[in-house]
Parts: sequence; C-alpha cells; structure tokens
Amino acid sequence: MKKIQSLNDLAINGAPPAFDEALHVGRPNIGDRKDFLHRVGEMLDRRWLSNNGPLVQELEEKIAAYQDVKHCIAMCNGTIALEIAIRALELKGEVIIPSYTFIATAHALQWQEITPVFADIDPQTHNLDPAAVRRMITPRTTGIIGVHLWGRGAPNAELQTIADEHNLKLMYDAAHAFGCGMGGTMIGNFGACEVLSFHATKFFNTFEGGAILTNDDALADKMRLMRNFGFSGLDNVIYPGTNGKMVEVCAAMGLTNLEYIDTVIAANLHNYNAYREGIVDIPGLSLLTYDESERNNYQYVVLEVGDDFPVLRDILIAALHAENILARKYFWPGCHGMKPYRDFYPHARLMLPNTERIAGRVIVLPSGTTLPNGAVENVIDLLRVYAEQ
Ligand SMILES: *Cc1c(COP(=O)(O)O)cnc(C)c1O
Repeated sequence: MKKIQSLNDLAINGAPPAFDEALHVGRPNIGDRKDFLHRVGEMLDRRWLSNNGPLVQELEEKIAAYQDVKHCIAMCNGTIALEIAIRALELKGEVIIPSYTFIATAHALQWQEITPVFADIDPQTHNLDPAAVRRMITPRTTGIIGVHLWGRGAPNAELQTIADEHNLKLMYDAAHAFGCGMGGTMIGNFGACEVLSFHATKFFNTFEGGAILTNDDALADKMRLMRNFGFSGLDNVIYPGTNGKMVEVCAAMGLTNLEYIDTVIAANLHNYNAYREGIVDIPGLSLLTYDESERNNYQYVVLEVGDDFPVLRDILIAALHAENILARKYFWPGCHGMKPYRDFYPHARLMLPNTERIAGRVIVLPSGTTLPNGAVENVIDLLRVYAEQ
C-alpha cells in the first residue's frame, strides 16, 4: 500500500463537519467564575498581592493535603520550580533525563550550566527506561530527573535503586502528574522532591504557576528561602536566592480550580473512554492506555500512528487541522533534536531509538472540559476516513 505523502493525495469529499469552533489540546479548564472573582475582590480589599499571602498559603496547604505530602512550595511557574529544586539538591556536572519530555526539563539544567544527558524511554509507557539510564552514567553524573510523562508514574523503584547504587540524587518533573499516583501512593512522595506545573494548558492551572512537593523539612526550608531572594526574615538575606514567588491572584485561580478538579477528571475520563472505544478497531492506530488501578488525571489522550496506517503522522495532523481539530505532535523531535542539544550531541539519536520512534508517531488529541458533545465521535469518524484511504 502506498502511503499518503501530501494533503493533495487525500481526496476528502463533502463539507467538513460543522464545528462552531476549533477543538484544542490543553484549552484551559476554568472553575466557578463567581468564586474566583469573589476571592480576587477580597484580595484587593486586603492589599496583599504577593509575598506569601493568605491565598498562596491556603493553596499550598490544600495541594499538600490533596497529594498527601508534607510540604508544598508554590512557585511562579514550573520551570523556575525545576531550577530551584535542581539548585537546592546541589546537582552539577551531568544529570540524566529523558529526551522525550517538554524542553523545560533540559533547559532548567542547561540554564545553570549543568549538562542534561538524554536516556531512552520504554516504548510501552513513554517513561524513562532504567536500563538506558544505567548506560548513560559517567563519573560526572550527579543526579537523575525522572518525568512522569502523561501523568503516569516513572519506574521509581528501579530509578531509586540506580540512584542509591551510584550515589546520585533523584527528583521528578511531575508537571503532568497533579492528581496522579503510583502503587497507591500519590505523586509528591517519590525521590527527593517533585515539581508540578500549573500552566494554563495543564490539567490544573493557576494561569501560570508551579510547586515543589517534598517530605524533607530541611529541603523545603531551603527552597522557600531560594524562592524569596534568600530572605530569612526582614532585612536578613542569607542566600543568593531568586524570585520564584506565586502571586495571590494565581492562588485565587488555583483555589477555585481545585474545587472544580473532580469535574475536570470526569470530563477527561469520559473523553478518553470515548476515544478508546472508537479507536480500538481502527487498524494502524492505537491509544496509549493508562493502568486503571492507578490514579491518573486523563489529561492527555495520546494516539500512536503505526507504520501500517495509510497516512503519515504529519499528514494526518495537517488533515485534522484542516477540519479545525487542532491535534498536536508532542515532544517532537525530542529535546536531543532541539538547540542547543542537537549541536552538543549530533549522534544522540543512535542512543535513543525508542524516543525517535515514539516522537515520530504520537498525536495528542483534543480533550478537557470545553469539548462540545459529539466532538470525540467527530474526530473518530475523521480518523476512520483516513484509515480507509
Ligand atoms: C509544562 C511543563 C514544564 C514547564 O512548566 P511551566 O509551568 O510551563 O514552566 C516542565 N516539564 C514538563 C514535562 C512540562 O510539561
């Protein structure tokens, strides 16, 4: 069978289905507006807009309780939270991470002149492959940053064993994993600390925001200090810190969205199940499934386009876009394919065959609370049309 190589080869007849608006990946989930505006009104009356205000403190307490972890340190975004966690753990030299992740995982290291070293993933889970991590250890390695990709827990037991054997620090980029767990334990309790992102496109948002979760009291104190220029009380700076503070209006959004979280999970799960049912019998397409015994937020509906599908992945995306379905490639071409890393490691792909293959196959489909009724069925119908080319 000849693969469809261009949009012109796809003769799709008839008008596209009538969508009022495009379907998006990561369109923000927004809780009750009145509650949000009420919180903002109180905040303005208080004239306490930043600097560890009452809304930030309340959000930290509620998130720590939700994830069942001792400390939550709220931050202005996930990237700064990663940078602070990396610095607080005193990582240096080389740190092993997956290449199949959002670029911020790598940049948070590179920004501090620490070299990210890319290890390959397990093609079943899209998470770090512990055997690949072992292969990338050198005398300069000081740590591992696992990523709980798509909210699925990375293989913590194996990674912790490797870290212990080689005297490495282990932490997690848990940007996708708010509301998620692994083996009955909530995310936030693995490694030395775990970093969440509350960016607008994430499962749970505070416009922009992030947090570090940890059970380590001393580490939590240190990161709070770093978040606020190193201030330890008025006029007393004891560390060259940065400004990672979350502002009150963001915490107001977070508190509002926290009350809406069950609705978001229900909508995501409903969409995911509908996609799964529809895609299961389309030859050449497969949906990444989640372990139903684990807690997940079902934020990401991850489609893999197989070699036997008649249309190339990128053509399928262009065709979906033409129908106002804004499905997305994710983490393509992998961090190792972006600058500056592709110049540092021109042959990295030889070590990353699974990353290369998965990055070339994945399409993330629209989901979330804003999808209109019948949207998933329309997407599936279109996928079927291309399957029959
Ligand atoms: C979103 C994301 C980040 C960055 O978080 P921001 O809050 O956008 O700075 C880091 N890592 C991963 C895996 C992400 O998806």
